[in-house]
Amino acid sequence: MTMTMTADEIRRAFLDYMAERGHVIIPRAPLIPRDDPSTLFTGSGMQPLLPYLLGAEHPGGRRLADSQTCLRVQDIEEVGDNRHTTFFEMLGNWSLGEYFKEEQIPQIWTFLTEKVGLVPDRIFVSCFSGDPGHGIPKDEDSAGIWSRLFVEAGISADQVDLGTEERAAEVGTNGARIAFYGKKNWWCRGGNADEMPLGEPGGPDTEIFYMFPQVEHDPAFGANCHQNCDCGRFIELGNSVFMEYQRTAEGFAPLPRRNVDYGGGLARIAAAAIDSPDVFRIGLLWPIIERLEELSGASYDDQKRSMRVIADHLRGATFLAVDGVTPSNKAQGYVMRRLIRRAVRFAFDLGLEENFFPQIIPTIAGIYAAHFPEVGEHAEYVEKILAKEEQSFRRTLRKGLKQLSQFAKTGVTGRELFVLSDTFGFPVELSTEEAERKNIALSENWREEFDEQLAAQRAQSQRRTTLHV
Ligand SMILES: [Zn+2]
Repeated sequence: MTMTMTADEIRRAFLDYMAERGHVIIPRAPLIPRDDPSTLFTGSGMQPLLPYLLGAEHPGGRRLADSQTCLRVQDIEEVGDNRHTTFFEMLGNWSLGEYFKEEQIPQIWTFLTEKVGLVPDRIFVSCFSGDPGHGIPKDEDSAGIWSRLFVEAGISADQVDLGTEERAAEVGTNGARIAFYGKKNWWCRGGNADEMPLGEPGGPDTEIFYMFPQVEHDPAFGANCHQNCDCGRFIELGNSVFMEYQRTAEGFAPLPRRNVDYGGGLARIAAAAIDSPDVFRIGLLWPIIERLEELSGASYDDQKRSMRVIADHLRGATFLAVDGVTPSNKAQGYVMRRLIRRAVRFAFDLGLEENFFPQIIPTIAGIYAAHFPEVGEHAEYVEKILAKEEQSFRRTLRKGLKQLSQFAKTGVTGRELFVLSDTFGFPVELSTEEAERKNIALSENWREEFDEQLAAQRAQSQRRTTLHV
Protein backbone atom coordinates (compact mmCIF):
# COMPACT_ATOMS: atom_id res chain seq x y z
CA MET A 1 0.00 0.00 0.00
CA THR A 2 1.35 3.41 -0.84
CA MET A 3 0.38 6.22 1.43
CA THR A 4 0.10 9.61 -0.19
CA MET A 5 -0.68 12.52 2.04
CA THR A 6 -1.66 15.91 0.68
CA ALA A 7 0.14 19.06 1.79
CA ASP A 8 -2.86 19.97 3.98
CA GLU A 9 -2.71 16.57 5.65
CA ILE A 10 1.04 16.83 6.15
CA ARG A 11 0.71 20.24 7.81
CA ARG A 12 -2.01 18.90 10.11
CA ALA A 13 -0.06 15.72 10.85
CA PHE A 14 3.08 17.68 11.72
CA LEU A 15 1.29 19.98 14.12
CA ASP A 16 -0.62 17.08 15.74
CA TYR A 17 2.57 15.03 16.05
CA MET A 18 4.44 17.91 17.68
CA ALA A 19 1.49 18.65 19.99
CA GLU A 20 1.48 14.99 21.10
CA ARG A 21 5.15 15.42 21.90
CA GLY A 22 4.50 18.33 24.24
CA HIS A 23 4.83 21.25 21.82
CA VAL A 24 2.56 24.27 21.99
CA ILE A 25 1.28 25.14 18.51
CA ILE A 26 1.68 28.85 17.85
CA PRO A 27 -0.06 30.87 15.09
CA ARG A 28 1.92 32.04 12.06
CA ALA A 29 3.51 35.48 12.31
CA PRO A 30 2.53 37.93 9.53
CA LEU A 31 4.76 38.20 6.44
CA ILE A 32 5.72 41.68 7.62
CA PRO A 33 7.94 41.42 10.72
CA ARG A 34 6.46 43.37 13.62
CA ASP A 35 9.56 44.64 15.42
CA ASP A 36 12.41 43.97 13.04
CA PRO A 37 13.34 46.89 10.79
CA SER A 38 16.41 45.01 9.48
CA THR A 39 14.37 42.96 7.02
CA LEU A 40 11.27 43.50 4.88
CA PHE A 41 9.74 40.03 5.19
CA THR A 42 9.48 37.01 7.42
CA GLY A 43 11.83 34.70 5.54
CA SER A 44 11.97 31.69 7.87
CA GLY A 45 10.14 30.08 10.75
CA MET A 46 13.01 30.97 13.04
CA GLN A 47 12.92 34.70 12.40
CA PRO A 48 9.90 35.60 14.58
CA LEU A 49 11.31 33.35 17.34
CA LEU A 50 14.82 34.76 17.41
CA PRO A 51 14.36 36.72 20.67
CA TYR A 52 13.38 33.45 22.39
CA LEU A 53 16.26 31.51 20.88
CA LEU A 54 18.49 34.25 22.29
CA GLY A 55 17.11 33.80 25.79
CA ALA A 56 13.76 35.57 26.26
CA GLU A 57 10.96 33.45 27.80
CA HIS A 58 8.22 32.55 25.31
CA PRO A 59 4.67 32.70 26.74
CA GLY A 60 3.96 29.34 25.06
CA GLY A 61 6.77 27.61 26.94
CA ARG A 62 9.90 25.81 25.82
CA ARG A 63 8.54 23.44 23.18
CA LEU A 64 6.94 25.22 20.26
CA ALA A 65 5.80 24.32 16.75
CA ASP A 66 4.05 26.07 13.85
CA SER A 67 3.65 26.38 10.11
CA GLN A 68 5.08 29.76 9.20
CA THR A 69 4.30 31.55 5.94
CA CYS A 70 7.50 33.00 4.45
CA LEU A 71 8.48 35.23 1.56
CA ARG A 72 11.95 35.38 0.02
CA VAL A 73 12.40 37.58 -3.01
CA GLN A 74 16.21 37.55 -3.27
CA ASP A 75 16.00 34.75 -5.84
CA ILE A 76 12.87 35.92 -7.62
CA GLU A 77 14.41 35.17 -11.02
CA GLU A 78 14.99 31.53 -10.06
CA VAL A 79 11.26 30.93 -9.77
CA GLY A 80 10.27 28.83 -12.74
CA ASP A 81 12.32 25.70 -12.03
CA ASN A 82 10.89 22.63 -10.30
CA ARG A 83 11.41 23.73 -6.70
CA HIS A 84 12.01 27.46 -6.12
CA THR A 85 9.17 29.68 -4.96
CA THR A 86 9.18 33.13 -3.36
CA PHE A 87 6.29 32.23 -1.05
CA PHE A 88 6.43 29.06 1.04
CA GLU A 89 5.37 27.55 4.32
CA MET A 90 7.95 26.32 6.76
CA LEU A 91 7.04 23.66 9.28
CA GLY A 92 8.96 24.42 12.46
CA ASN A 93 9.62 22.99 15.88
CA TRP A 94 11.75 24.43 18.65
CA SER A 95 13.27 23.31 21.87
CA LEU A 96 14.25 26.28 24.00
CA GLY A 97 16.70 24.66 26.39
CA GLU A 98 14.82 21.36 26.60
CA TYR A 99 15.58 18.42 24.31
CA PHE A 100 18.57 18.28 21.95
CA LYS A 101 20.03 16.16 19.13
CA GLU A 102 19.18 12.81 20.70
CA GLU A 103 15.47 13.65 20.61
CA GLN A 104 15.27 15.96 17.58
CA ILE A 105 16.86 13.74 14.93
CA PRO A 106 14.76 10.62 15.64
CA GLN A 107 11.69 12.84 16.08
CA ILE A 108 11.93 14.35 12.61
CA TRP A 109 13.01 11.02 11.06
CA THR A 110 9.92 9.31 12.50
CA PHE A 111 7.70 12.08 11.23
CA LEU A 112 9.07 11.87 7.68
CA THR A 113 9.29 8.09 7.39
CA GLU A 114 6.35 6.88 9.49
CA LYS A 115 3.84 9.74 9.44
CA VAL A 116 4.43 11.04 5.91
CA GLY A 117 5.61 7.69 4.57
CA LEU A 118 8.81 8.80 2.82
CA VAL A 119 11.15 6.00 1.74
CA PRO A 120 14.15 5.75 4.15
CA ASP A 121 16.36 4.56 1.32
CA ARG A 122 15.88 7.87 -0.48
CA ILE A 123 16.73 10.08 2.50
CA PHE A 124 20.23 11.56 2.67
CA VAL A 125 21.69 13.97 5.21
CA SER A 126 24.56 16.36 5.78
CA CYS A 127 26.36 17.19 9.03
CA PHE A 128 28.95 19.72 10.17
CA SER A 129 32.57 18.77 9.40
CA GLY A 130 34.05 20.89 12.18
CA ASP A 131 36.05 24.10 12.26
CA PRO A 132 39.52 23.37 13.66
CA GLY A 133 40.52 27.04 13.31
CA HIS A 134 37.89 27.95 15.91
CA GLY A 135 38.21 24.78 17.96
CA ILE A 136 34.74 23.51 17.01
CA PRO A 137 34.67 19.72 16.60
CA LYS A 138 33.05 17.68 13.83
CA ASP A 139 29.41 16.94 14.71
CA GLU A 140 29.91 13.23 15.43
CA ASP A 141 26.88 13.22 17.74
CA SER A 142 24.41 13.97 14.95
CA ALA A 143 26.18 11.68 12.49
CA GLY A 144 26.12 8.87 15.05
CA ILE A 145 22.36 9.23 15.60
CA TRP A 146 21.73 9.29 11.84
CA SER A 147 23.94 6.20 11.34
CA ARG A 148 21.94 4.31 13.92
CA LEU A 149 18.60 5.31 12.33
CA PHE A 150 19.73 4.37 8.81
CA VAL A 151 21.10 1.02 9.94
CA GLU A 152 17.87 0.31 11.85
CA ALA A 153 15.99 1.06 8.61
CA GLY A 154 17.98 -1.69 6.90
CA ILE A 155 20.59 0.40 5.10
CA SER A 156 24.00 -1.25 5.29
CA ALA A 157 26.52 0.36 7.60
CA ASP A 158 29.20 0.73 4.91
CA GLN A 159 26.88 3.05 2.96
CA VAL A 160 26.39 5.40 5.83
CA ASP A 161 29.47 7.62 6.16
CA LEU A 162 30.86 9.47 3.17
CA GLY A 163 33.73 11.54 4.52
CA THR A 164 34.66 15.02 3.44
CA GLU A 165 33.10 17.76 1.37
CA GLU A 166 35.81 17.29 -1.25
CA ARG A 167 35.01 13.60 -1.45
CA ALA A 168 31.29 14.24 -1.76
CA ALA A 169 31.92 16.59 -4.69
CA GLU A 170 34.46 14.23 -6.17
CA VAL A 171 32.77 10.86 -6.06
CA GLY A 172 29.13 11.75 -5.44
CA THR A 173 27.08 10.03 -2.78
CA ASN A 174 27.37 6.55 -4.26
CA GLY A 175 24.53 5.55 -2.01
CA ALA A 176 26.20 6.87 1.10
CA ARG A 177 23.96 8.65 3.55
CA ILE A 178 25.90 11.18 5.52
CA ALA A 179 28.09 13.87 4.00
CA PHE A 180 30.07 16.32 6.09
CA TYR A 181 30.30 19.96 5.06
CA GLY A 182 31.90 23.03 6.57
CA LYS A 183 30.22 26.44 6.32
CA LYS A 184 27.06 24.98 4.74
CA ASN A 185 26.32 23.18 8.00
CA TRP A 186 27.18 25.94 10.43
CA TRP A 187 24.51 28.30 11.69
CA CYS A 188 24.97 31.70 13.27
CA ARG A 189 23.44 35.09 12.58
CA GLY A 190 25.17 36.44 9.51
CA GLY A 191 26.60 32.98 8.82
CA ASN A 192 30.26 33.70 9.53
CA ALA A 193 31.96 32.40 12.70
CA ASP A 194 34.69 35.05 12.41
CA GLU A 195 32.28 37.94 12.47
CA MET A 196 30.18 36.79 15.42
CA PRO A 197 30.09 39.32 18.26
CA LEU A 198 31.04 38.05 21.73
CA GLY A 199 28.21 36.17 23.41
CA GLU A 200 26.47 35.40 20.13
CA PRO A 201 25.12 31.84 19.82
CA GLY A 202 25.85 29.49 16.92
CA GLY A 203 26.06 25.83 16.19
CA PRO A 204 26.10 22.99 13.71
CA ASP A 205 23.07 21.98 11.70
CA THR A 206 22.02 18.84 9.92
CA GLU A 207 20.10 18.95 6.65
CA ILE A 208 17.76 16.31 5.25
CA PHE A 209 17.51 15.66 1.50
CA TYR A 210 15.24 13.49 -0.59
CA MET A 211 16.56 11.84 -3.72
CA PHE A 212 14.44 11.61 -6.85
CA PRO A 213 15.91 8.79 -8.96
CA GLN A 214 13.71 9.81 -11.89
CA VAL A 215 15.77 13.03 -12.22
CA GLU A 216 19.00 12.40 -14.13
CA HIS A 217 22.05 14.16 -12.74
CA ASP A 218 23.06 17.06 -14.96
CA PRO A 219 26.87 17.06 -15.47
CA ALA A 220 26.72 20.85 -15.89
CA PHE A 221 26.66 20.88 -12.06
CA GLY A 222 29.76 18.69 -11.63
CA ALA A 223 30.95 15.22 -12.51
CA ASN A 224 28.92 13.45 -9.83
CA CYS A 225 25.71 14.02 -7.95
CA HIS A 226 25.52 14.47 -4.17
CA GLN A 227 23.35 15.97 -1.44
CA ASN A 228 24.19 19.57 -2.24
CA CYS A 229 24.20 19.21 -6.03
CA ASP A 230 21.92 21.84 -7.62
CA CYS A 231 20.76 19.70 -10.53
CA GLY A 232 17.39 18.99 -8.89
CA ARG A 233 17.93 15.27 -8.21
CA PHE A 234 18.34 15.96 -4.48
CA ILE A 235 15.87 18.31 -2.84
CA GLU A 236 16.45 19.68 0.64
CA LEU A 237 13.45 18.96 2.86
CA GLY A 238 14.55 20.55 6.11
CA ASN A 239 17.24 21.52 8.52
CA SER A 240 17.75 21.09 12.27
CA VAL A 241 19.96 23.73 13.85
CA PHE A 242 21.63 22.90 17.15
CA MET A 243 22.55 26.08 18.98
CA GLU A 244 25.16 24.83 21.42
CA TYR A 245 28.07 27.29 21.28
CA GLN A 246 28.68 30.86 22.23
CA ARG A 247 31.39 33.16 20.88
CA THR A 248 33.99 34.03 23.51
CA ALA A 249 37.19 36.08 23.42
CA GLU A 250 39.19 32.85 23.10
CA GLY A 251 36.95 31.10 20.57
CA PHE A 252 33.82 29.17 21.43
CA ALA A 253 32.37 27.83 24.66
CA PRO A 254 29.31 25.62 25.25
CA LEU A 255 26.05 27.53 25.72
CA PRO A 256 24.43 27.07 29.13
CA ARG A 257 21.00 26.65 27.47
CA ARG A 258 21.08 24.75 24.19
CA ASN A 259 18.31 25.14 21.62
CA VAL A 260 16.93 23.21 18.67
CA ASP A 261 15.50 25.05 15.68
CA TYR A 262 13.98 22.91 12.94
CA GLY A 263 12.56 24.27 9.69
CA GLY A 264 11.16 22.08 6.91
CA GLY A 265 9.63 23.08 3.58
CA LEU A 266 6.01 21.96 3.56
CA ALA A 267 5.76 22.05 -0.25
CA ARG A 268 8.93 20.01 -0.71
CA ILE A 269 7.87 17.39 1.83
CA ALA A 270 4.49 17.20 0.09
CA ALA A 271 6.22 16.81 -3.28
CA ALA A 272 8.34 13.98 -1.87
CA ALA A 273 5.16 12.35 -0.53
CA ILE A 274 3.67 12.17 -4.03
CA ASP A 275 7.09 11.28 -5.48
CA SER A 276 7.15 14.39 -7.64
CA PRO A 277 10.37 16.39 -8.02
CA ASP A 278 8.10 19.18 -9.28
CA VAL A 279 6.67 21.02 -6.24
CA PHE A 280 4.01 22.64 -8.42
CA ARG A 281 2.22 19.26 -8.58
CA ILE A 282 1.17 19.46 -4.91
CA GLY A 283 -2.32 20.38 -3.76
CA LEU A 284 -1.28 23.88 -2.64
CA LEU A 285 -0.22 24.85 -6.18
CA TRP A 286 -1.71 22.45 -8.72
CA PRO A 287 -5.28 23.86 -8.59
CA ILE A 288 -3.84 27.28 -9.55
CA ILE A 289 -1.99 25.72 -12.48
CA GLU A 290 -5.16 23.91 -13.59
CA ARG A 291 -7.09 27.17 -13.45
CA LEU A 292 -4.41 28.82 -15.60
CA GLU A 293 -4.69 25.98 -18.09
CA GLU A 294 -8.47 26.45 -18.25
CA LEU A 295 -8.27 30.22 -18.64
CA SER A 296 -5.53 30.24 -21.25
CA GLY A 297 -6.12 27.01 -23.12
CA ALA A 298 -2.37 26.42 -22.86
CA SER A 299 -0.95 23.29 -21.27
CA TYR A 300 1.38 23.17 -18.27
CA ASP A 301 3.80 20.92 -20.10
CA ASP A 302 4.33 23.59 -22.77
CA GLN A 303 4.26 26.60 -20.46
CA LYS A 304 5.83 25.43 -17.21
CA ARG A 305 7.90 28.49 -16.44
CA SER A 306 5.17 31.07 -17.00
CA MET A 307 2.54 29.11 -15.10
CA ARG A 308 4.89 28.47 -12.18
CA VAL A 309 5.80 32.15 -11.94
CA ILE A 310 2.18 33.30 -12.05
CA ALA A 311 1.03 30.70 -9.48
CA ASP A 312 3.86 31.51 -7.09
CA HIS A 313 3.68 35.28 -7.43
CA LEU A 314 -0.10 35.58 -7.07
CA ARG A 315 -0.03 33.35 -4.01
CA GLY A 316 2.64 35.59 -2.45
CA ALA A 317 0.74 38.74 -3.39
CA THR A 318 -2.43 37.26 -1.88
CA PHE A 319 -0.77 36.65 1.49
CA LEU A 320 0.82 40.11 1.40
CA ALA A 321 -2.64 41.65 0.89
CA VAL A 322 -4.06 39.48 3.71
CA ASP A 323 -1.26 40.78 5.96
CA GLY A 324 -2.12 44.38 5.15
CA VAL A 325 0.29 45.35 2.36
CA THR A 326 -0.91 47.34 -0.66
CA PRO A 327 1.03 47.87 -3.90
CA SER A 328 3.19 50.99 -3.80
CA ASN A 329 6.60 52.28 -4.82
CA LYS A 330 8.41 51.52 -1.61
CA ALA A 331 9.48 48.70 0.65
CA GLN A 332 7.00 45.83 0.95
CA GLY A 333 4.50 47.52 -1.33
CA TYR A 334 7.11 47.71 -4.07
CA VAL A 335 7.84 43.99 -3.82
CA MET A 336 4.13 43.26 -3.97
CA ARG A 337 3.84 45.44 -7.06
CA ARG A 338 6.78 43.61 -8.61
CA LEU A 339 5.18 40.20 -7.98
CA ILE A 340 1.93 41.37 -9.56
CA ARG A 341 3.62 42.93 -12.58
CA ARG A 342 5.70 39.85 -13.20
CA ALA A 343 2.53 37.76 -13.05
CA VAL A 344 0.88 40.00 -15.66
CA ARG A 345 3.97 39.95 -17.83
CA PHE A 346 4.22 36.14 -17.75
CA ALA A 347 0.51 35.90 -18.44
CA PHE A 348 1.29 37.44 -21.84
CA ASP A 349 3.18 34.26 -22.69
CA LEU A 350 -0.04 32.34 -22.10
CA GLY A 351 -2.02 34.72 -24.27
CA LEU A 352 -3.83 36.07 -21.19
CA GLU A 353 -3.99 39.68 -22.29
CA GLU A 354 -7.19 40.59 -20.46
CA ASN A 355 -7.66 40.89 -16.70
CA PHE A 356 -7.71 37.43 -15.14
CA PHE A 357 -6.80 37.90 -11.47
CA PRO A 358 -10.47 37.78 -10.38
CA GLN A 359 -10.63 34.26 -11.85
CA ILE A 360 -7.52 33.11 -9.95
CA ILE A 361 -7.71 34.70 -6.50
CA PRO A 362 -10.77 32.68 -5.37
CA THR A 363 -8.85 29.50 -6.25
CA ILE A 364 -5.92 30.59 -4.07
CA ALA A 365 -8.23 31.64 -1.24
CA GLY A 366 -10.01 28.28 -1.48
CA ILE A 367 -6.74 26.39 -1.08
CA TYR A 368 -5.72 28.20 2.11
CA ALA A 369 -8.99 29.16 3.82
CA ALA A 370 -9.31 25.95 5.84
CA HIS A 371 -5.97 26.28 7.61
CA PHE A 372 -5.59 30.07 7.52
CA PRO A 373 -9.15 31.38 8.00
CA GLU A 374 -7.94 34.99 7.54
CA VAL A 375 -7.31 34.19 3.86
CA GLY A 376 -10.95 33.19 3.35
CA GLU A 377 -12.22 36.15 5.36
CA HIS A 378 -10.25 38.66 3.30
CA ALA A 379 -10.69 36.98 -0.08
CA GLU A 380 -12.91 39.68 -1.57
CA TYR A 381 -10.67 42.45 -0.34
CA VAL A 382 -7.58 40.71 -1.75
CA GLU A 383 -9.27 40.26 -5.09
CA LYS A 384 -10.15 43.96 -5.19
CA ILE A 385 -6.61 45.15 -4.35
CA LEU A 386 -4.92 42.80 -6.81
CA ALA A 387 -7.43 43.34 -9.61
CA LYS A 388 -6.98 47.10 -9.31
CA GLU A 389 -3.22 46.78 -9.65
CA GLU A 390 -3.63 44.40 -12.58
CA GLN A 391 -5.89 46.86 -14.39
CA SER A 392 -3.56 49.78 -13.84
CA PHE A 393 -0.52 47.79 -14.96
CA ARG A 394 -2.29 46.69 -18.10
CA ARG A 395 -2.87 50.39 -18.89
CA THR A 396 0.85 50.90 -18.29
CA LEU A 397 1.59 48.06 -20.63
CA ARG A 398 -0.56 49.54 -23.36
CA LYS A 399 1.12 52.94 -22.97
CA GLY A 400 4.52 51.26 -22.98
CA LEU A 401 3.72 49.37 -26.15
CA LYS A 402 2.64 52.59 -27.80
CA GLN A 403 5.82 54.35 -26.69
CA LEU A 404 7.91 51.46 -27.99
CA SER A 405 6.35 51.91 -31.44
CA GLN A 406 7.23 55.61 -31.24
CA PHE A 407 10.84 54.85 -30.34
CA ALA A 408 10.98 52.29 -33.15
CA LYS A 409 10.73 55.11 -35.71
CA THR A 410 14.08 56.59 -34.66
CA GLY A 411 15.86 53.48 -33.36
CA VAL A 412 15.82 51.68 -30.06
CA THR A 413 18.94 51.52 -27.88
CA GLY A 414 19.38 50.50 -24.25
CA ARG A 415 18.62 54.10 -23.34
CA GLU A 416 15.10 53.89 -24.78
CA LEU A 417 14.57 50.51 -23.14
CA PHE A 418 15.58 52.06 -19.85
CA VAL A 419 13.12 54.94 -20.28
CA LEU A 420 10.40 52.40 -21.00
CA SER A 421 11.26 50.44 -17.89
CA ASP A 422 11.90 53.35 -15.57
CA THR A 423 9.30 55.89 -16.66
CA PHE A 424 6.62 53.62 -18.09
CA GLY A 425 7.11 50.65 -15.77
CA PHE A 426 7.46 48.51 -18.87
CA PRO A 427 9.76 45.55 -18.06
CA VAL A 428 12.79 45.18 -20.29
CA GLU A 429 12.06 41.49 -20.99
CA LEU A 430 8.70 42.54 -22.34
CA SER A 431 10.23 45.30 -24.48
CA THR A 432 12.72 42.96 -26.10
CA GLU A 433 10.10 40.29 -26.71
CA GLU A 434 7.78 42.84 -28.26
CA ALA A 435 10.63 44.16 -30.39
CA GLU A 436 11.26 40.66 -31.66
CA ARG A 437 7.59 40.04 -32.32
CA LYS A 438 7.25 43.30 -34.27
CA ASN A 439 10.64 43.14 -36.02
CA ILE A 440 11.86 46.28 -34.29
CA ALA A 441 15.65 46.41 -34.48
CA LEU A 442 17.53 46.99 -31.23
CA SER A 443 21.00 48.50 -31.08
CA GLU A 444 23.67 45.81 -30.99
CA ASN A 445 24.80 46.51 -27.42
CA TRP A 446 21.45 47.51 -25.95
CA ARG A 447 22.12 45.32 -22.91
CA GLU A 448 25.30 47.22 -21.95
CA GLU A 449 23.60 50.55 -22.62
CA PHE A 450 20.66 49.51 -20.46
CA ASP A 451 22.93 48.29 -17.65
CA GLU A 452 24.87 51.56 -17.73
CA GLN A 453 21.67 53.54 -17.27
CA LEU A 454 20.57 51.20 -14.51
CA ALA A 455 23.90 51.39 -12.70
CA ALA A 456 23.87 55.19 -12.88
CA GLN A 457 20.37 55.28 -11.45
CA ARG A 458 21.21 52.78 -8.73
CA ALA A 459 24.24 54.78 -7.65
CA GLN A 460 22.01 57.81 -7.43
CA SER A 461 19.26 56.12 -5.45
CA GLN A 462 21.77 54.45 -3.13
CA ARG A 463 22.71 57.89 -2.00
CA ARG A 464 19.08 58.66 -1.27
CA THR A 465 17.91 55.57 0.50
CA THR A 466 19.10 52.47 2.26
CA LEU A 467 16.14 50.43 1.18
CA HIS A 468 16.91 46.74 0.78
CA VAL A 469 14.76 44.68 -1.52
ZN1 LIG B 1 23.21 16.29 -9.47
